[in-house]
Amino acid sequence: MPTPEYQRQWRQKNKDKAAKYMRTWRAKHPATALKCARKWVEKNRHKTRDAAMDWYNVHREEFNAKRRKARKINPEPIRERERKRVRTYNPESRKRCYEKNKDNVLADCKEYRENNREKINASQRKWRGRNSKKYIAYMVKANRKWRKEHPEESAKRDAKHYAENADKKRKASSEWRRKNPELRSVYNTRRRARKAGGGGKHTVAQWIFRCELYKWKCFYCDKLLTKKTVTKDHYIPLEKGGTDFAANLVPSCLKCNLRKNSKLIKRGYFISNPSQ
Ligand SMILES: [Zn+2]
Repeated sequence: MPTPEYQRQWRQKNKDKAAKYMRTWRAKHPATALKCARKWVEKNRHKTRDAAMDWYNVHREEFNAKRRKARKINPEPIRERERKRVRTYNPESRKRCYEKNKDNVLADCKEYRENNREKINASQRKWRGRNSKKYIAYMVKANRKWRKEHPEESAKRDAKHYAENADKKRKASSEWRRKNPELRSVYNTRRRARKAGGGGKHTVAQWIFRCELYKWKCFYCDKLLTKKTVTKDHYIPLEKGGTDFAANLVPSCLKCNLRKNSKLIKRGYFISNPSQ
């Protein structure tokens, strides 16, 4: 029985013969040969990776075409393999690889972007269509950040935009005011309260609740009111330190509201003092 060392030496001396023997053996035992080859590759990753990359760089097109075809026919195994790679990939090693090849990677990316502008734009459009909420949230955040970092530039842009769209804006805001009378009065009183320094705020629902509490009747003259005719009165006037919280709001007819002005008067005041 020849020793392994002797076998090695014989193979060294008779390379052609040894290769021929191996070929015949592999032809006879294809399954075992494949298994052995895989095991060897697994054990010698560092050796095979470079060779594989060299081969891939030469046969790139052909390999990718084959892969695309295989994926079309039977997508699941390939997808599963990719999922596994993503699940198990090591971010540290990826980072190291990137750092090592940074210039090449960035140059490749740039070249790809330049050559595939249309394709990239189309796929971005598609993504935005599918993820419009995410996209808007992202843009709002990015925009805010940019504005914070470029205050002068953003003020300039705002002024320009406003000058160009002033008419349109005026129209839109008067349209909005017409359509949202309740919200409008909420904002108006909030602004007045802010100016007077009383503070506080309320919602539309809270205001409606106050109206219902007083049965949609004017607090000062008992006149029956509707959503259209009711006005918001600050029981303690804002000018006297009243707040814009719902508790300080009473429904009032327009007439009483104007008559009351910024006085502090009791409930039903204009029933007993109709001339004032
Ligand atoms: Zn009234």
